[in-house]
Amino acid sequence: MELTSYLNGQWQAGQGTGAALINPTTGDTLATASAEGLDLAGALRYGRETGGPALRAMSFAARGEMLKGISKAIHAHRDALIELATANGGNTRGDAKFDIDGCTGTLMAYAALGAELGDSRGHLLEGDPINLGRSARVQGQHVRVPRRGVAVHINAFNFPAWGLGEKAACAWLAGVPVVCKPAPGTALVAHRIAEIIVESGLVPDGAFTFICGDAHDLLDHVEWTDVVAFTGGSVTAAKIRAHGHLIAAGSPLNVEADSLNAAVLGAEAEDNTYDAFIRDVHKEMTQKAGQKCTAVRRILVPADRLDEVIEDLGDRLSRTVVGDPALEQVHMGPLSSPLQQQRAQEGVAALLSECEVAWRGEGALEGVADPSKGAFIQPHLLKCADPTQASVVHELEVFGPVATVMPYDGTAEGAAALVRKGAGGLVHSIYADDRAFLGALILSISDAAGRLYVVDTKTADKGIGSGAVLPTLNHGGPGRAGAGTELGGVRGLDFYTQRCAVQGNGPLMARLLG
Ligand code: NAP
Repeated sequence: MELTSYLNGQWQAGQGTGAALINPTTGDTLATASAEGLDLAGALRYGRETGGPALRAMSFAARGEMLKGISKAIHAHRDALIELATANGGNTRGDAKFDIDGCTGTLMAYAALGAELGDSRGHLLEGDPINLGRSARVQGQHVRVPRRGVAVHINAFNFPAWGLGEKAACAWLAGVPVVCKPAPGTALVAHRIAEIIVESGLVPDGAFTFICGDAHDLLDHVEWTDVVAFTGGSVTAAKIRAHGHLIAAGSPLNVEADSLNAAVLGAEAEDNTYDAFIRDVHKEMTQKAGQKCTAVRRILVPADRLDEVIEDLGDRLSRTVVGDPALEQVHMGPLSSPLQQQRAQEGVAALLSECEVAWRGEGALEGVADPSKGAFIQPHLLKCADPTQASVVHELEVFGPVATVMPYDGTAEGAAALVRKGAGGLVHSIYADDRAFLGALILSISDAAGRLYVVDTKTADKGIGSGAVLPTLNHGGPGRAGAGTELGGVRGLDFYTQRCAVQGNGPLMARLLG
């Protein structure tokens, strides 16, 4: 099967063979995707000239209705999409639901926000008018208006559904056409979702472009009215940041990159807080075979509890069946490709330069998969004896079921110093009950993460885990994580709108701007 792209309101095939989409459980090729030779400049222009005006003619409420319809249309194909995610992404049913329901849920959340924002078409008022003299005659009012370009969305391989939906929800609600480029290797799910979106007829002509294959010259055609939102590894992010044309055009760029997320266990954690910590860390290591930007990579434990934590995590990991994700008894599938498997193995080897193996799965996959064909990797729990002197463990994101336990001295200062060695993360989690410790740690690491997930004895059985990104809360972190920001309710629209301070006759502006 050759996957096509959707440009200028038409499905079009690229030239050449393009990238292969494989089944990482069996190694079989499922499809190919090429965007070579497609008129990407023309597609961006079509989006700006046709899709933009059509979206901007709709009210927030109407765009919200559109998002609701798209969410429902995708949800109606949930089972088929889960099958595709299992085949092309190595996802268990649970992994696939996390991605697909994350997509439809985020679209629904922004649909509700659209209804709240109501019948206004163009702009959002930001704050109250500001008097610029002694009276209210001359005032300034900040407004946010939709950008008149397109939103280029470059997505990572690990969340083909959510990545498409969460970005598109914000752009469309703001009134900006979407140009979506998924990672080709796992694009089967994104491609089917693109078909569903087009078939639904809900999105105005030109407001949705789907590029299935490599990016080719896409970024060369971005203009100052456009924005680029990138999700992927920090090496690719660095290349895109340095893209000469993007710099010259002055187009806003949002980067969501990798992260050495930390989970911290407090010294005085109650039993149920401790249980939640073990449960969540295990989930964060194994869900989607550890291929989540929000997965826990560093596990900070008071030195006197290190052995206990290794034993309890090892016990849970030993019950994690790795194999064909289509089988019910399997908890964790393969990595998404042999290349990811090789990278994870190389990453473990690099970590072992300053860590030792604390626990490693050795199941033979007998009866649940053929290890000679699939991109399998067993969970690895490593131990770093002296994390204050280590560097690789704080810098290298191994994108698989791999995490490192490390001791700290039990103080908030000691934990904060180690967390901060990750140089900026997406989400750090804290499991503790000592209020002084919690207060000190939260304040000393909240500039080092886009989100903090805090669990105490009263919330230990109410949490959903640190890895779930919520549409209402900020996603994106400083430093290594890319310094980007997405979602966060209405804040998610900021990137797709321009802030303008309008100065003048206050009462007149109140009438004109509403
Ligand atoms: P990647 O190799 O950096 O690729 C990401 C995307 O960038 C792909 O669509 C890729 O397409 C595209 N790309 C590569 N070079 C490009 C260029 N020169 N111009 C334009 N596009 C280009 O990342 P990945 O392996 O797909 O994803 C894994 C990484 O993403 C991990 O590090 C993970 O932590 C991170 N991630 C972060 C978040 C977050 O929200 N912070 C979420 C998910 C994943 P091609 O394959 O066609 O080159």
